[in-house]
Amino acid sequence: MKKTTWILTALILAIAAGTAMAAAIFAFQSGEKTKNAASAAGGTFYVMEGKLTPKGSLAETGKAQYAKKVVVRKSKPKDFVVVLDPGHGGKDNGASRDNVLEKDVNLAIAKFAEAKLKELGYQVFLTRDADDFISLQGRVDFAAEKKADVFVSFHQNSSGYPDVKGMETYCTSESSGEDGKEFARLLHKAAVKQSGTRDRGILDNASLFVTRENHMPAVLMELGFLTNEAERKNLSSAAYQEKLAQGITEGIHTFLCPNAQTK
Ligand SMILES: [Zn+2]
Repeated sequence: MKKTTWILTALILAIAAGTAMAAAIFAFQSGEKTKNAASAAGGTFYVMEGKLTPKGSLAETGKAQYAKKVVVRKSKPKDFVVVLDPGHGGKDNGASRDNVLEKDVNLAIAKFAEAKLKELGYQVFLTRDADDFISLQGRVDFAAEKKADVFVSFHQNSSGYPDVKGMETYCTSESSGEDGKEFARLLHKAAVKQSGTRDRGILDNASLFVTRENHMPAVLMELGFLTNEAERKNLSSAAYQEKLAQGITEGIHTFLCPNAQTK
């Protein structure tokens, strides 16, 4: 090869390599941009020619089988709907002792949690925000209507044994899957830690209406015993109610936005 031909070849190769690299960088950047825009909505997408395409459009054209499937998780609090369900209400007091009614305690804690979750940016809906009677089916229908990503039911326990105290969390993984179990674990752990009450454990596959009939991760939390004098006093105080709400909020936030900082 003559010296001039060699230089020319090297020059052409260098230009070609540079162009290819620039094209790759551009494709990567535009892909990232599409991905960021898509992640705001979340869901299943397909990568076609470096672009993210929503599931439906590709399936319609029959091209889905040639594309790489990617699931984009929703990542910001504002993308998620949280339904909080204060148990009982109206004609249904729930458990009660010494004028402390379960329905009131449930609502007070749910309202604290609502405020904390809204502050983080979540879309939050309460199945009731006053002393109203709502059927169990009505609560499940409400969650479906709001397209809830997660569902938390607030309750207080009672026992014939006044010494019994502590927290129990129920889930039904037959309905909500492993995600539902993980959701229960995170909420229970954080709420026990914040309140300092006794850990009575997580009970899976209990046949409770709201955990069985909801199909998003759904828990029912028996936060404490109204029949234990010390715990009843705690559950009646705003400071303790707020601690429970803080734990529940942290659990929800860790589950939905694991990469975000917990306040
Ligand atoms: Zn109850």
